[in-house]
Amino acid sequence: MSDKGVTPRSEDYSRWYTDVVRKADLADYAPVRGCMIIKPYGYELWEAIRNGLDRRFKATGHRNAYFPLFIPMSFIEKEAEHVEGFAPELAVVTHGGGKELEEPLVVRPTSETVIGHAYAQWIKSYRDLPVLINQWANVVRWEMRPRLFLRTMEFLWQEGHTAHATAQEAKDETMRMLDVYADFAVNDAAIPVVKGRKSAREKFAGAESSYTIEAMVGNTWALQSGTSHYLGQNFAKAFNIQFLDEGNELKLCYTTSWGVSTRMVGGIVMTHGDDTGLRLPPRLAPIQVVIVPIWRKPEEQTAVSERVGQVRDALVAAGVRVHVDDREGITPGFKFNDWEMRGVPLRMEIGPRDVASGSVVVARRDVPGRDGKESLPAEGLDRAIPDLLERVQEALLSQATAFRDAHLHEASTYDELKEIVTDGWALIPHCDTLACEERIKDETKASSRCFPIDLNRDWKTGSVRCPVCGEPAVGLAYFGRAY
Ligand SMILES: [Zn+2]
Repeated sequence: MSDKGVTPRSEDYSRWYTDVVRKADLADYAPVRGCMIIKPYGYELWEAIRNGLDRRFKATGHRNAYFPLFIPMSFIEKEAEHVEGFAPELAVVTHGGGKELEEPLVVRPTSETVIGHAYAQWIKSYRDLPVLINQWANVVRWEMRPRLFLRTMEFLWQEGHTAHATAQEAKDETMRMLDVYADFAVNDAAIPVVKGRKSAREKFAGAESSYTIEAMVGNTWALQSGTSHYLGQNFAKAFNIQFLDEGNELKLCYTTSWGVSTRMVGGIVMTHGDDTGLRLPPRLAPIQVVIVPIWRKPEEQTAVSERVGQVRDALVAAGVRVHVDDREGITPGFKFNDWEMRGVPLRMEIGPRDVASGSVVVARRDVPGRDGKESLPAEGLDRAIPDLLERVQEALLSQATAFRDAHLHEASTYDELKEIVTDGWALIPHCDTLACEERIKDETKASSRCFPIDLNRDWKTGSVRCPVCGEPAVGLAYFGRAY
């Protein structure tokens, strides 16, 4: 491995991932183990993710608000399953202002409880419903096996929390937000996620049912990339979230919650990255086009700089995020490698010959070598470049889809499952019992990813048995290794 390169994926996938995150300048380690410093380039990528999601949340009627970081310990304890699920991960503040606190404060691991408390005050009548609120925040979950972006003790996310008059409305909301997540993942992040229901073992602590978007990353492992939970009346009961219906009768609300985190950054790195570094989908790339001016003699510099300025202005006017790399004392070859590592979708080279011929050279990050290079007329780049960016976006999605589809297999026996999960996901009729899933996890390291919605529409429970334990299967489930 050279100083500039990354460990090949085939050699050590974990090291490859860490190399890319660090060499592409996305993040750095923090003094406290498990925490992470998100560097500007990584944060700009997160901002693009945030913008793509926030736009969709607002289009579906949600508003942003902000709730406190500290939650009274007694709140967390109000929902039995919730406290049981989160207890091992809690960070607890016992002292403040130099004194021991009367009641310890939990640093929020998620905000169902503190938001439930607020909703109980705000909601009086059916006219107050639905409540559709999202929060952008940081949360803390004590993490024993940290990994940059994928598992960090503190991470950034959004958490939507909604309250409804009927179970059906809350269920519809749960599925609507799952669709919003999938739409974002596929169309903005170019990640062909599988939408499905989480098993009883994997569902959110306190939920009636949890849904997920699952990505298959470059080593065929799964990455849970967003979840949407139907909470039924569990939190409404714990926090007295009630309303008077049209008949003046007091009723409990039905609530939902849903979240996507900075984990999505790791998903993008792992889904699209290659042995040269990061590859970013143009819709989320902080820099879509990098222009590298090339000149040797001072008299060439004036003409080249002038053309570079014209091209940059035209692209900016066309809405393209463009950066000119005019660092001095660094060779063009070094710059090319540097921007390839950072995954910029298009590189543009402009030298004296290009100025003379009225053209520019464009190289695609997703197509290595000569095949990805073409010469384009300098006139009309304001249309040609956005078109080319769209083609790169489509190419990344179709590559990721082809890779995923090649590693999804049906298994009709447990032995087949064992074989398949060494390099992909196995689809089996599954019983959805804790013991069976634990056994599969212990023996194969694969966990239940989800019961995919598309493949379970016509499922009739009763006729087919789980090949692992022989109990009746409740649906088709994917199993795979996961982060
Ligand atoms: Zn089973």
